[in-house]
Amino acid sequence: MNEQARLLRERGEAVIHLGAGEPKNRAPINAILSSAARLNTGDIKYTPTEGIPSLRKAIIRYTEENYDRIVAPENVLVSAGAKQILFQLLFTLLNPQEEVIVLAPYWVSYPEMIKMVYAVPVIVTPEDGSFHPRMEEIEKAVSSYTKAIIVNSPNNPSGLMYRPDFIASIVEFCERKGIYLIMDDIYHKLVFDGKVSVSPYKYTSKDVENTHVISINGISKLYGMTGFRIGWVIAPRKIVQVMTNVQAQTSSCTSVILQAAAEGALTGLQSVVETLRLTLENNRNVMMQELHAFSGISITKPDGTYYCLPDFRAYSKDSVKLSNFLLQKALVVTVPGKEFGMEGHLRLSYATTVKDIKEGLERIKWALDPNAPNDIYIGERKLIRDWQ
Ligand code: PMP
Repeated sequence: MNEQARLLRERGEAVIHLGAGEPKNRAPINAILSSAARLNTGDIKYTPTEGIPSLRKAIIRYTEENYDRIVAPENVLVSAGAKQILFQLLFTLLNPQEEVIVLAPYWVSYPEMIKMVYAVPVIVTPEDGSFHPRMEEIEKAVSSYTKAIIVNSPNNPSGLMYRPDFIASIVEFCERKGIYLIMDDIYHKLVFDGKVSVSPYKYTSKDVENTHVISINGISKLYGMTGFRIGWVIAPRKIVQVMTNVQAQTSSCTSVILQAAAEGALTGLQSVVETLRLTLENNRNVMMQELHAFSGISITKPDGTYYCLPDFRAYSKDSVKLSNFLLQKALVVTVPGKEFGMEGHLRLSYATTVKDIKEGLERIKWALDPNAPNDIYIGERKLIRDWQ
């Protein structure tokens, strides 16, 4: 879809992107200055595989402040994004045929990465049609092959933040059963309506070397620094050691310039996160307002992230077809819910401008909703809806 959108844009079409997983902000000034200072030294070499000590120190401080957990440098590994961390973690933990429970709706890469290491994704979809997982359903899916459960809250694509009682239950369950609980916390500070995301460590009495809770984080979403490619894991040292071996043999380390940028972001002014969070909250509100004025769409209000996942089944049960149709007719990029294990839904990103959110939804409404006016201006062109 991205490729098609790019080609349309190249042809000069006024494409609106509601598919993006990155905001429009500039990188934080402290990140820019810190990486520029490093670059200016001209001393750009390999770093220790696990990451430069000063960045790992900043991550340890971040973990203490946000998770109330004191960890050692040996519990931290820095990689080129949460994505690389996750892959190395799955590669480290899983033997072929072992199972990982993935909660739908899920981020597209989880099942793919699990399959790439010859393990088996076991998808658990809430039977009540909501986006909130239930412990009974998860417990039913657990077998003697279950090695890990991945939890992503606030969630990409639904924007939902799981309730603290659920996090407490799943932590307790995983610790009792010896199943790894992989917390993909990449959006954990981007939450709205005065809510805060809870630290999973709050619900375990096990220390950092014995817990089965593993957390993944990064600067991509938190600071809108997707292109800087820095993510990290907090895990027991025996796991970090193996992940470090995997990294040593595959990429050696991530760039020192980017590690310096991450350190700058983590130790610099944190008001940038609040500015981004407020922008996203405002954008979320605008998107909700527009979606509520749309006949037949049902929507769960997101608690955080960049996304929401409205139910478009009133218009089409085939989200890939619908997403293609919207790109061709209305020049709006959306992501089919099928990719996230939620057929009939579309993921819409509000990590864009208010203008694009309003115009994008107006176009979708025009293309789908028979109650909408049947003509619209897209760029310079006046278009007439001549389909049902
Ligand atoms: N986890 C989730 C849930 C994500 O949405 C993303 C980015 N789309 C990632 C991980 C990967 O983040 P990074 O840029 O740090 O690799």
